[in-house]
Amino acid sequence: MSNESPSFEELGLNSKLLKALKDVGYETPSPIQSQSIPPLLEGRDIIGQAQTGTGKTAAFALPILSNLNLTQKTPQVLVLAPTRELAIQVAEAFQAYAHHMKGFHILPIYGGQGYEGQLRALRRGVHVVVGTPGRVMDHIRKGTLVLDGLSHLVLDEADEMLRMGFIDDVEWIMERTPKERQIALFSATMPPEIAKVAKAYLTDPVLVKIETKTRTAETINQRYWPVSRVNKLDAVTRILEAETFDAMIIFVRTKTTTVELAERLEARGFRASALNGDITQKLRERTVDQLKKGQIDILVATDVAARGLDVDRISHVLNYDIPYDTESYVHRIGRTGRAGRTGEAILFVARREMRMLRTIEKSTGKDIEQMLLPSAADINEQRLLKFKQRLSETIESGGLDFFETMISEHIAKNDEDPVKVAAALAKLLQGDSPFLLTEQREPERFNRDTSDGGGKFDRNSKNGSRKERGPRGERGDRGDRGDRGERADRSDRSAKRDKDVDMETFRVEVGHNDEVRPGDLVGAIANEAGIESQYIGHIKIYDEYSTVDLPSGMPREVQKHLQKVWVRQKQLKLAAVKDGARGPKARVKPMEDRKPKKKKPEEPKIGRKPRKREAN
Ligand code: AMP
Repeated sequence: MSNESPSFEELGLNSKLLKALKDVGYETPSPIQSQSIPPLLEGRDIIGQAQTGTGKTAAFALPILSNLNLTQKTPQVLVLAPTRELAIQVAEAFQAYAHHMKGFHILPIYGGQGYEGQLRALRRGVHVVVGTPGRVMDHIRKGTLVLDGLSHLVLDEADEMLRMGFIDDVEWIMERTPKERQIALFSATMPPEIAKVAKAYLTDPVLVKIETKTRTAETINQRYWPVSRVNKLDAVTRILEAETFDAMIIFVRTKTTTVELAERLEARGFRASALNGDITQKLRERTVDQLKKGQIDILVATDVAARGLDVDRISHVLNYDIPYDTESYVHRIGRTGRAGRTGEAILFVARREMRMLRTIEKSTGKDIEQMLLPSAADINEQRLLKFKQRLSETIESGGLDFFETMISEHIAKNDEDPVKVAAALAKLLQGDSPFLLTEQREPERFNRDTSDGGGKFDRNSKNGSRKERGPRGERGDRGDRGDRGERADRSDRSAKRDKDVDMETFRVEVGHNDEVRPGDLVGAIANEAGIESQYIGHIKIYDEYSTVDLPSGMPREVQKHLQKVWVRQKQLKLAAVKDGARGPKARVKPMEDRKPKKKKPEEPKIGRKPRKREAN
């Protein structure tokens, strides 16, 4: 991000949106936002060359929402996205930003989802439709999606739509929109076909392209960790325990995360503080001073807050959330390796951010090596070492007379073994948390060398239930089948098997919020309950919990055991689902089941509450 970045207020967004941005914790506009929002607010067409992870969704959603007419009942905005996953993400983002706009309605539409709910919502009236091209075309043909009142059209990830063979559909849809609509076209790359579409349909567009050429210092060793089974907080903790570091700065995207993460690290025994744009200059100075003096070792900061930070003892920079662009990355990691020292830079990269990793490598001209997360054994070795060190230091530092007398008396009086007494004291000191870490399972790896930038799974799991697939299900909504890859696969299996085995639905207390995936559940249930993976049926993942179909008549002991099994740091607490008793409603409804349903199909409406939109 450049230093001249304006604030959201300065960009001219209305107060309701500014309030929502405060709720979600965005501090300053990302480069694509500061350059796209003003022309879009003015009504200009734009071509934004930007990748996922740059904040492009807000770059178009915010100005569109700012100009929205809430009293109009027919769709005003159509966003075309290549995959259902992206459509949902975009819809969630709109919903979060529009949190304070009363009566705002958005509808994600994509294949593989029943029509009923979509039709109902369209009849009721929506302001924004976000959809995959195939399903949008279906609705236009059926006359259920009328675009006469459309004033804004967004093509999101246009190159991806081209790659997936949707470009003709996109043009078909564009031709059916009113002549006067505003168009925003976003694309990571600009292949000739997309440039042609832009030329044919956009009027005098403003070009927004983020310059990414930058260099990184030779003295900084760069690594990345592909975010997988271990959650980011646990991953940081492991790194903090296993790496020898002097001081570390951890970069996150939002103010809220700076505070939350710093608090969590403190709770885990690290000396950490938050540094964000809300902190007064005085407090900032004090915090930086504490870091310099070694009174704290970790700063959790946003880009803005860490600007110009110059503390020699920062040996490590950890990018907890991937930065928006190469410039920010270079700026961030430049906080280490100062004053002729060497530095370490670690980058957490989620699967969908692999493209950003490659962009960073390309524009810095440097390879970033994949790192393995320290194993439980590594951590345990460190813990033992540190514990013994603390013991020796405490003995050396003296002042033990009182305790020596007390313990000697206790030993003499009760004829205790001194080693036992020492062990009991260590146990007391440790409290309830276990001293040793247990490895839950092998970390998942993913292969970064995929042409689409998403990374495929390279998993050697026993059950091997997941097919290799692109990051977004690759098929888009073409075939109206399945959903996000993993689940579709489970549906295929359950469809086959359900003919011979009676199944029962169970609820488990891990969900999207815990980043659980079907494979985690299959693995845990197969291993812990001895149920062959082929007998583990349909899995649906909701935000806070999931449901799994398992053969009915499971022995009580097995069920009891499964209640205590841990997946993604949470106990499954497996419980049978009585019809209609699935607990709190999911924020985003799961995709349609491929099995015939007795229940009424769930509406594809998305949640009401804004969510902190952080990168994990
Ligand atoms: P996108 O490129 O739209 O997929 O956004 C990537 C991530 O950045 C999402 O998690 C957004 O919530 C987050 N994000 C977008 N804009 C900002 C901002 N100005 N400040 C902090 N986070 C943001």
